[in-house]
Amino acid sequence: MAYGVFTMLSRLNNSCTPNAAATWNDDAQRMSLHALRPIATNEEITISYGQPLFATRAERRSYLKRTRGFDCICGACRSTDPSSDARREELKRLFTSIPFVPDPATGVKMVRISLHRQSLRRLSCDAMMANHVVQVLQALQTLRTEGIDLCADVLAYDAAQFCFAASDMKHGREWLEYAYDYKCRASGVESETAQYFAKCLQSSSPPDPLASHNRPMILWGPPS
Ligand SMILES: [Zn+2]
Repeated sequence: MAYGVFTMLSRLNNSCTPNAAATWNDDAQRMSLHALRPIATNEEITISYGQPLFATRAERRSYLKRTRGFDCICGACRSTDPSSDARREELKRLFTSIPFVPDPATGVKMVRISLHRQSLRRLSCDAMMANHVVQVLQALQTLRTEGIDLCADVLAYDAAQFCFAASDMKHGREWLEYAYDYKCRASGVESETAQYFAKCLQSSSPPDPLASHNRPMILWGPPS
């Protein structure tokens, strides 16, 4: 493990709806800063100091006070929007219930276990995978409404695995492209995760677990 002091980046202030993200690139031994959305002239560039973002205003402020010693007065914490806390709690709920699928093989295994356990074989798989993709779409929409431009790659990658596991190869690929495009924007094309997504896109198609079924399963692709 290495440590460093970054004289420029350490001057950036915190926000609970940051407009930029700092990423460490191990290969280049370099820290880079990327805009998460268009930043207006004279608008302050902000990053997250690592507080839980899927938490209420009181929880975030308490965390930052305890760990960093300041009262957060970012736009989200100053907002009087009564729905903000509910949206953050909804995001927490969605991120807890969407299973993490590290790779296509695990996704396929998930489907096989589900098929093995349930008698309504095809239906159970349809329902499970469709439900997870719907949750991903809900989470992306809620992130957008709340102004949090983070985590889209994690969600899109999971959605890709759900589609692959359900034999919807077309949408799986679209989700992978979405994850790659987002990560290039948010962390740079050289970032480890962007490189990983690029490798997934170049590799041969993942196994098609339901190829023997007559009816192809069509889920949903990423939002435009
Ligand atoms: Zn805040």
